[in-house]
Amino acid sequence: MTYSRDFWLDRAETLSPRTGMFINGRLAHAADGDVFEDLSPVDGRVLGAVASGKSEDIDRAVKAARKAFDGGHWSRRHPRERKKVMLAWAALIEKHAEELALLETLDMGKPISDALAVDVPATVGCIRWYAEAIDKVYGEVAPTDPEKSLALILREPMGVIGVVVPWNFPMIMSAWKLGPALATGNSVVLKPAEQSPLTAIRLAELAVEAGIPEGVFNVVTGYGETAGRALGLHPDVDAIGFTGSTEVGKLFLQYSGQSNMKRVYLECGGKSPNIVLADCPDVKAAARASAGSMFFNGGEMCTAPSRLLVQKGIEDELMEEVAKVAAATRPGHPLDPSTSLGALVSPEHAERVMSYIEIGRQDGAKLIAGGKRVVPEGIGANESPCYVEPTVFAGATNSMRIAQEEIFGPVLTAIPFNDVDDAIRIANDTQYGLAGAVWTRDIDKAIRVSRAVRSGMVYVNSYDADDITVPFGGYKQSGFGRDKSLHALEKYTDLKTVWIALGS
Ligand code: NAD
Repeated sequence: MTYSRDFWLDRAETLSPRTGMFINGRLAHAADGDVFEDLSPVDGRVLGAVASGKSEDIDRAVKAARKAFDGGHWSRRHPRERKKVMLAWAALIEKHAEELALLETLDMGKPISDALAVDVPATVGCIRWYAEAIDKVYGEVAPTDPEKSLALILREPMGVIGVVVPWNFPMIMSAWKLGPALATGNSVVLKPAEQSPLTAIRLAELAVEAGIPEGVFNVVTGYGETAGRALGLHPDVDAIGFTGSTEVGKLFLQYSGQSNMKRVYLECGGKSPNIVLADCPDVKAAARASAGSMFFNGGEMCTAPSRLLVQKGIEDELMEEVAKVAAATRPGHPLDPSTSLGALVSPEHAERVMSYIEIGRQDGAKLIAGGKRVVPEGIGANESPCYVEPTVFAGATNSMRIAQEEIFGPVLTAIPFNDVDDAIRIANDTQYGLAGAVWTRDIDKAIRVSRAVRSGMVYVNSYDADDITVPFGGYKQSGFGRDKSLHALEKYTDLKTVWIALGS
């Protein structure tokens, strides 16, 4: 059902978001009573005073998680029972889809239509998939001497998992870690981004309603430098599942070394090369798909195809079409169901994106679309500076800052190249290695480029294909460890060998 903007605005007025942390099965204040103001980038409204967790709160949450784990009500429960509870949780998330979508939109500015069509269903789908998977996963028996021993290879839950996520897909990023971590029997302490804490609290409440025992899933809201850091340094956390910037990902590696050598899995930034060869099946279609992927979620996408590598010869045709799509994609009121580009997450982030647009200009790239802030219809002139036009730079070089640094906004940088070797060289000339794409009619070239590009995911004649069944993650400084697919179960379990002596 598609509701009007007025419907959502009315509903936003009556919404009373939970603003406490969620520890040991109930809402809680920060130990020191501290709060931070959660402002909406949509129109600057105050969404609530959210508990600002510190190390004492992280410690409370980790203790609750450890107690739950040791108690065994979840960790040693029959997998089929865990599956049942997680399916009930997914059903509750689905039942509260409108509320969760509205919270997500108000908190981080994405269009309500995307929150409803993408964020909630992907979260539900992910929890369901891991619930369904967990009673079908087997251990192993090693091929040792059958006369003398039986060697069992078990996969055991690790214990307490710290989950730290960013603000661009708050629910989905959490679900990618909660699904496999909880299904395998671990306890979790989730630290959502300070810009978007509201859906995490609600997810935890619904988890308890569904039957996940108290202490198994805890949420500590707060800032990265305090709550996030305390979780990374906590001596009783067994592993961290992190999604966020490369800079902060590196801090988690340090925290691990400074504390208990906890496992750290990192999904970090990207500057993905999207290579369009002159023999691409349909230049205009490639342009439209590339621009569509670039501007989805306001460009606040780790996998955004932010470097468009275009072969000389088709540059004019491709860039003209990309600019057309950019010009047609106007930022709109996020609560308007027809809006496809909403607000960036915060005034600070919008300012950062604008500063990159200025850097691109000064470095000599050619601005062919966008470049300005706008105030969409229905938003007051001084309510929010978070709306930025889709922006396209052509004729850039790969050494420019707009080609090397992650902007994380609706800014596309196009770089011309001569031939396939040139494209591969440019594609790999980056610290990142998250995603990439190649557009060509020639299967040999497609395979050659896919193999040569050092990225965790490469698309051929498409961008952003997505399914819970396939691993998601990067090479190089885009991180390591994979979300999604059965491989994610490996991250939250440890191998144990049990030797049984025979014939003694
Ligand atoms: P961020 O790194 O600033 O923050 C991510 C999380 O880390 C937040 O919860 C934050 O509070 C916490 N944090 C910040 N500073 C910390 C510190 N000193 N110690 C401990 N925790 C700290 O990232 P962001 O701005 O929220 O999100 C954008 C980034 O996330 C981009 O770089 C983007 O590419 C990346 N991202 C990656 C993926 C992926 O799967 N590879 C997916 C989405 C986003």
